[in-house]
Amino acid sequence: MNIPKRRLKISLAMVMPALVSLSILMTMSIMVYIQYKNEKRSLYDTTMSLNLSSAQKMAVTIEALFSGMRQSLRAAASNPAMEARAASDEKELQVIFDLMLQSSPYFNSVFWADERGSIRVVSPAGNQVNHARLITEGAIQALNERKSYLSVPYRSPTGRWIVFASEPIFDGSGKYCGMIAGTIYLEENNILHRIFGSGAGNEEDSYSYIVDSGGKVLYHLEESRVGEDVSSNVVVRRLMDGESGMQRVTNTQGNDYLTGYASVAMNGWGIVMQTSVSSILADVNRNLQDQLRSMLFPIALMLFIAVYTAARIAAPFTRLYKLTKSVAAGQTVSAQEFRPHWNREADQLNRIMGAAAETMAKQTQSLQQEAITDPLTGLSNRRELERCLESWDALGEPYAVILLDIDHFKAINDTYGHQTGDQVLKLVAAVMVDCAPADAVCSRFGGEEFVILLRERSLDTAYRMAERIRRAILISPTPYSGTLTVSIGVSLYPEHGGNREDVFQAADMALYRAKGEGRNCTVAAGLSA
Ligand code: GH3
Ligand code: MG
Ligand code: MG
Repeated sequence: MNIPKRRLKISLAMVMPALVSLSILMTMSIMVYIQYKNEKRSLYDTTMSLNLSSAQKMAVTIEALFSGMRQSLRAAASNPAMEARAASDEKELQVIFDLMLQSSPYFNSVFWADERGSIRVVSPAGNQVNHARLITEGAIQALNERKSYLSVPYRSPTGRWIVFASEPIFDGSGKYCGMIAGTIYLEENNILHRIFGSGAGNEEDSYSYIVDSGGKVLYHLEESRVGEDVSSNVVVRRLMDGESGMQRVTNTQGNDYLTGYASVAMNGWGIVMQTSVSSILADVNRNLQDQLRSMLFPIALMLFIAVYTAARIAAPFTRLYKLTKSVAAGQTVSAQEFRPHWNREADQLNRIMGAAAETMAKQTQSLQQEAITDPLTGLSNRRELERCLESWDALGEPYAVILLDIDHFKAINDTYGHQTGDQVLKLVAAVMVDCAPADAVCSRFGGEEFVILLRERSLDTAYRMAERIRRAILISPTPYSGTLTVSIGVSLYPEHGGNREDVFQAADMALYRAKGEGRNCTVAAGLSA
């Protein structure tokens, strides 16, 4: 046998809160996500702009520094005292150079190499260096070119990474006397370190470095990187082309940075100021976490309100379902149970269902009434009589049965017609109701026979009641010209039978006797005629 599968039904009380919660959470998530993206982008842009302006400021500083260097070298180169002392007093010369080094903030060392490349004096003094010959390619080139020169960073014979600037020296007659040079020891405390090495920016997350026109590192937070060729870095290549700007790059070590870079037109150097993306992301994430934490309570409150409201909206429908179920189960539900509600749909449903329940209740009531009523006389019908008897029987309390039959009714029908017969039936019913006490059950037993059940323990009282009815009928005006008589049998429970059938039987027999005695009389059961 194929049993149809019951599809899963979800209650409104669950769907609505779930839906509302979901939409709140989704809206919040989208908002937070958009804000997160915007914040990230704006922080990236701001960082790059700040880095660019820092790099530009550093470039201006280096230009000033560089022109200062040149000037101090030129001043020294054109100093006539130097030439004069050169030939005579080496010690004096050393003093001049030492003084020059001390008074100039730019260099770690200064030296004079004559036109043959022999170092005449160097400050600070070093035994091995004085009178040595220039051997590095750059230095020889500077000497030969006889003009202002700026070296690339290189490892000097003393093992230091250095860069030097030089100026040619000419004597009064214009004879070339070699060059005067200032050296910066790139890995040691130098002018670049003093200017850029301290202050904001130089930390792990955000730092600057300086490269020369060939893409070699002149200055870096990590000293070990001095002299490194970073010309493969896209930003450094731009600097080598003389460009300035900002860009997100992955550096030669594979780290992601937001950079601002500026080139120094005067000497071809370039400055890169960069901030690691991960540090910015950490900031953004921290902000996001703070934001989420501060949103927690409002969201929880909103969810609570949403769930509460949704539950309130769903509640009348759940209630309606229960009421309707009761109606379907045949229980009487009063229209007042379908209360008004602030929600329009729920209110409309309640009103319609209330009206439907009222109509159904009325219909049921009238059907129930019809089911127990004799339509012609309005008395209880035989079914209702049976039901009353049953319940009275069950109580076991005494009662009396008055069985009434119209005399010669057939003749009335035959003589005056069926309609008149019906009027007679109604007349008898009206008299019965009139005479019987309120708690008596007056019923039409069938045809022209009627039964009255009385809560009565005295046969005599029941008899008198029957007689009262008989006499009242006798004197009632009839719809035809003549009197109407009835015969009545009376019996008592439990005197005339242990059950309703026997008691009825006794009443029937009494009635039979009444008929036999000439009709228009009342006979009590158990009494002889
Ligand atoms: P008796 O005095 O011996 O009781 O004679 P009776 O004519 O009254 O009794 P009978 O049983 O011979 O006739 C009963 C008649 O009641 C027969 C039937 O046509 C009539 N009757 C039964 N039900 C109705 C009804 O609803 N309306 C009318 N008008 N007549 C009915
Ligand atoms: Mg009869
Ligand atoms: Mg009769």
